Amino acid sequence: MPRAETTTDVASDAVAAIIADVRSRGYNALSELAARFDRVEQHRPLVPRAALKEALQQLDPQVRAALEESIRRARLFADAQRPRNTDLQIGPGANVAQKWIPVRRVGLYVPGGLAVYPSSVIMNVVPAQAAGVSSLALASPPQPAFGGLPHPTILAAAELLGIEEVYAMGGAQAIAAFAYGVPAAGDNPELEPVDVVTGPGNVYVATAKRLVKGVVGIDAEAGPTEIAILADAGADARLVAADLISQAEHDPNAASVLVTDSAELEQRVREELDRQVAATRHRERVATALSGPQSGTILVDNLEQGIEVCNAYGAEHLEIQTANAEEAAARITSAGAVFVGSYSPVSLGDYCSGSNHVLPTAGTAAFSSGLNVTTFMRAIQVINYDRAALAEVSGHVVALSRAEDLPAHGDAVSVRFSS
Ligand code: NAD
Repeated sequence: MPRAETTTDVASDAVAAIIADVRSRGYNALSELAARFDRVEQHRPLVPRAALKEALQQLDPQVRAALEESIRRARLFADAQRPRNTDLQIGPGANVAQKWIPVRRVGLYVPGGLAVYPSSVIMNVVPAQAAGVSSLALASPPQPAFGGLPHPTILAAAELLGIEEVYAMGGAQAIAAFAYGVPAAGDNPELEPVDVVTGPGNVYVATAKRLVKGVVGIDAEAGPTEIAILADAGADARLVAADLISQAEHDPNAASVLVTDSAELEQRVREELDRQVAATRHRERVATALSGPQSGTILVDNLEQGIEVCNAYGAEHLEIQTANAEEAAARITSAGAVFVGSYSPVSLGDYCSGSNHVLPTAGTAAFSSGLNVTTFMRAIQVINYDRAALAEVSGHVVALSRAEDLPAHGDAVSVRFSS
């Protein structure tokens, strides 16, 4: 099945040009790109503090309560993830340690093209705060319907979390601005470059993150959403179809994949999809995603083979709806996140499970992880040997330095013991 990776290749040239434009023309480029891609004429990149406060005041109390509960659960889990420092005495007087340090400044991207994602504010901000990052900047596309500011629910979520630096910037241009910074111009203050850029987004955002990687750190490639569902004959076709649709709703490029050993279930899911797609609000987008080459059913001989297929595919979200769901889940070695059994739908993880919804797509789960506290941290190793401890290994250092034909390395040890 083709993956989003092929689409990032297609977007590369366009995105490289946008990044170069932002680097050379700063705020002027940002305003022109906002007009071109977001249809915003009066562009004011830095959102005024008053607009953040106002958005929270105006927020629907039910949405506020939901955001607060989502934050509470995400915080509990993020706090529990903080890695422990290691301090080990290798031998007498020979100490090595590893300490985890948060990065200083991060740029957090919250998508806002086809849908509005206040939940992504939480998913980005909470682990960064739990890591101890001191400087957080957030960007989301400017919306013509809201005077060129990001959607008010996004602003309200930022205010709830105490984020003061919010930019109305979308797509590849936002990622470029975070990575390279933007010099002050006119009324716009300097946007200071960040150390790490995170967050989900469409193919332009994912491609831009790929292109700035190395200049800054990034989280996993979190491009167009994917759901795979491993289901057997006993699965409820109504629930399977609802979950496939729920992720297809994100993006016409979203992938919804059913992996099953039951041709009969496949038939029932197909009938349910016909019925439910016709009734869903974003039916066009959903139908496009479901009929795309990236979506479909993989019929396997048995669940054993189904697990192999799921591990080879490495879906961003993998649901297990089989008789022994926990057993099957324990054997999954590649996925952004695994949702076990009928009462753990992906939508729960999207909003309120405590887990993070910024997850690796396009098969990158084979080597990367979903957003978590360590995304915002680095580990520094600290070496502290005393004279006797160094003397004990000095012969080995000299031998290895000769073997590598780097004798000055050995000399730097020997000199400490010669008078
Ligand atoms: P977005 O904010 O990612 O993209 C909107 C921006 O795209 C615009 O501001 C514009 O600058 C840029 N853009 C649009 N057309 C362009 C073009 N032709 N050339 C260059 N730039 C262009 O919002 P979206 O489009 O709604 O996408 C959100 C994405 O995030 C979806 O694909 C969704 O599946 C994904 N998502 C992923 C996760 C995850 O964890 N993997 C979580 C939430 C959302």
